[in-house]
Amino acid sequence: MENLEKMKQLIDKLNKYAYEYYVLDNPTVSDKEYDALYDELCELERQSGHVFPDSPTRRVGGDPIEKFAEHKHINRLYSLDKCKTFDELIEWDSKLVKALGRPIEYTLEYKLDGLTLCLTYENGHLSVASTRGNGVVGEDVTEQVKTIKSVPLSIPHKGIMEVQGEGIMRVSALNEYNKTAAVPLKNARNGVAGAIRNLDPKVTASRNLDVIFYNVNYIEDDIPSQQKMIDLLKENHFKTEKLLITSDINRIIEEIKGIDRSKLDFVIDGMVIKVNEVSIRESLGFTDKFPRWAIAYKFEAEETTTTLNDVVWQVGRTGKITPIAELDAVELCGAMVKRATLNNYGDIKRKGVKIGSKVFIRRSNDVIPEVLGVADQQGGKEVELPTVCPSCKSQLIENGANLFCPNEYGCKPQITGRLVHFCEKECMDIEGLSEKTLGFLFDKIGLNSFEGLYALTKDDLDGLEGFKDKKIANLIGGIQKSKDADLAHFINALGILNVGKKLAQDLAKEFRSIDALMAADKDRLLLIPDMGPITADCIIEYFSKHSAKIHNLMSLGINPKFEIANSTGVFSGQKVVLTGTLAQFKRSQAAEIIQKNGGEVQSSVTSTTTLVIAGEAAGSKLDKARKLGVKIIDEKEFIDLINS
Ligand code: NAD
Repeated sequence: MENLEKMKQLIDKLNKYAYEYYVLDNPTVSDKEYDALYDELCELERQSGHVFPDSPTRRVGGDPIEKFAEHKHINRLYSLDKCKTFDELIEWDSKLVKALGRPIEYTLEYKLDGLTLCLTYENGHLSVASTRGNGVVGEDVTEQVKTIKSVPLSIPHKGIMEVQGEGIMRVSALNEYNKTAAVPLKNARNGVAGAIRNLDPKVTASRNLDVIFYNVNYIEDDIPSQQKMIDLLKENHFKTEKLLITSDINRIIEEIKGIDRSKLDFVIDGMVIKVNEVSIRESLGFTDKFPRWAIAYKFEAEETTTTLNDVVWQVGRTGKITPIAELDAVELCGAMVKRATLNNYGDIKRKGVKIGSKVFIRRSNDVIPEVLGVADQQGGKEVELPTVCPSCKSQLIENGANLFCPNEYGCKPQITGRLVHFCEKECMDIEGLSEKTLGFLFDKIGLNSFEGLYALTKDDLDGLEGFKDKKIANLIGGIQKSKDADLAHFINALGILNVGKKLAQDLAKEFRSIDALMAADKDRLLLIPDMGPITADCIIEYFSKHSAKIHNLMSLGINPKFEIANSTGVFSGQKVVLTGTLAQFKRSQAAEIIQKNGGEVQSSVTSTTTLVIAGEAAGSKLDKARKLGVKIIDEKEFIDLINS
């Protein structure tokens, strides 16, 4: 009885959330929270043996909204069964294998997090595009979908063909859109759902959407397998994505483990495992809601909601003041999150974030968590903008949507941040100067610049707490040695706003001397691939302000050289991928050796890769190299090559 009452409450809550999500495209809770309530309802239904008619466990998606014409799908569209652990996946495979009495071949695909789209082609032309809706009837969004450039308006197949895919907003498109949007989008899924279920096709066009296809929902002829379905989609000019076929569930698990979501330009919330052979699918059939021949392995959620309690302001090495949200601690991707960045004050305004707001936060791999937007617009206190630097109390200056502290040589966090960056391995590579030590040297001897670092003497450090002879000698030795750093490391070390390691390398390659770079005007800088006008301005501004500093550094003995890659080196002309753990080198060291010996280092294995160096526990990159027949060597062979 008590359980039934609890189930009714859960159903009301879930149906409200589903309405906000599917109909209004404006969720007020994260998928993680929705899924937790949904799982609780499933468990109560299992225990009680009762399922209410309006339970969301019986239905697919949400009903179509009236503002669009209805479209009935030729074949019903389903949702997907889900699991969260590899044990569940192994159990699912065992059950199917047992039922069938032989190994089953599976396909593995990305589970794209967007909006299901179903497209019907007649006589080679796109006749209707619709949303999934409740699986039987969707909304006619033909005009909107026609604005998506990658969707073919006509295809070679001349009969009736209904195909299913996921409308997505690429991460790069979302970031680009959010840079200038009056109201930023909370996430990519919302971006695509709101753009397609919008009466004005111009809005759809402005969001730069894409569609990735994974299913032929209807065609006159039989298609024997998922593999053939994907082939057919490709032949008809539809975009498809990665596909692995295997009967080995452990191979699938290994592949899933090797996926790095942060490297993809689209959002996935899991992977989909499907029985390849259609005849087996037919024998397994469907439940009310999903096929028994497919399952989604769901990744840990990267988004959740929590309460924003306060906003504090932090000074970075460029003097930029970044607002940091202090949050009610919440678990996300296996870590407790208490703070998240709000980027800049312009962002706070655009996102409508207030103190006391319930906010969406996102945490992906190694990136610091970010506040995406407000979940619930009600109440809250406006965030006050600081007028003075939270550290040195200097009057702040505004530049675009950002605030800056102008006290370049007197504001401690700015100075230590800049020096920490300068000493990093990928910059001047000076060991023994942590943030704490640099802060200490700023307090005690006023160390506040790169030049100051090179002017340090034994006498300056003698007698300081914790500075014994050996430490002083090592430190001064390290500083002296860093004078030989090459041009790319030096440019990176300067910490120019918007210039990271990759761009520093490109600039070094292009200009080959610091003087040539300093003399470059904006038009010249804009010739570099991927260089935008804002970054070009940052470079020009940096050198116009700091040319004396650079000359001082030169007079102190720093002489950054551009080393032309050795065109006769052992890796000359090779495109090399490093994978797994090397015992004797850090990745960055191995990469440098390859580059110095004429090779190019790639981050992933592609058809252009010529060599893979595989360390311990190498995963999916190694598999891909084997598949593509790329030459693979181990660490010992790598060392032999360098020494040859
Ligand atoms: P789903 O999105 O979890 O899975 C089914 C869908 O996956 C398919 O319809 C298809 O569009 C998509 N998909 C992506 N790649 C695919 C591939 N390669 N092959 C096949 N399908 C693929 O299920 P659902 O029923 O659409 O939605 C349920 C989910 O929606 C919940 O898990 C929840 O996270 C979310 N939701 C959230 C709220 C909220 O308020 N935050 C409310 C309702 C639902």
